Amino acid sequence: MTPFHFTPGSLPLLVSIPHAGTQLTPEVDAGLSEAARGLPDTDWHIPLLFDFVRDLGASVLIGHYSRFVIDLNRPPDNQPLYATATTGLFPETLFNGSPTFAPGSTPTAAQRAGYLADIWQPYHQQIQQELARLKAEHGYALLFDAHSIASEIPRLFEGRLPDLNIGTNDGKSCRAEVTQGLEAVCAAQSDYSWVVNGRFKGGYITRAYGQPAENIQAVQLELAQLNYMDETPPFAWRQERASALQKVLKPLVQRFIACGHIA
Ligand SMILES: [Zn+2]
Repeated sequence: MTPFHFTPGSLPLLVSIPHAGTQLTPEVDAGLSEAARGLPDTDWHIPLLFDFVRDLGASVLIGHYSRFVIDLNRPPDNQPLYATATTGLFPETLFNGSPTFAPGSTPTAAQRAGYLADIWQPYHQQIQQELARLKAEHGYALLFDAHSIASEIPRLFEGRLPDLNIGTNDGKSCRAEVTQGLEAVCAAQSDYSWVVNGRFKGGYITRAYGQPAENIQAVQLELAQLNYMDETPPFAWRQERASALQKVLKPLVQRFIACGHIA
């Protein structure tokens, strides 16, 4: 199994989808707890939901492996992403706090070092290569990191998550004009609640690669899953809800493209 699927586009935009993967290594497959077996914390169906970006001309990078093998949106040194409850590079617990692995079945340090070298590094090398190519061809690059999560996870956040959660690392991962452009798209509709730099401010990918001074603008979008799928197993895709949501997602991506050009 290759660690990712990549398709180049014609625009200066890379869409990264690190958490939709469901592939497991043999050790992780054998070791998952009963609660983890259905891969509950996957960013389900995100490649399908964002399939329209290919027609727009974006490059698309999709991770193949489950975050239960290794989390592509965490730093390689496994420093915590948030001061509040979070999950790490090799999640020991599910979002709800129950163990990811059956007792004594956690992968070994050597196996995990292999996941870092064979799964995490290639994904990040591909991001770096593609951003460099986009900058060389267009003079600037845009990175859109696409995610989703269940709308209610008491251990991670209080109450129900806003529908659209835009993260710019508190304004550090893109120019202010980009954030303002995305806010304007959100404010122009009333079907979905939204927040900028709320509970989700952007993970490692947004923070590491968003360098507005270098003409690389990065944003993360964390979507509440109930707007396009069932949040309980088997996590079915809901076409009607997804089509409605895409009517906001497409203008968001288009505005990102329009606002992201060189200042
Ligand atoms: Zn995610």
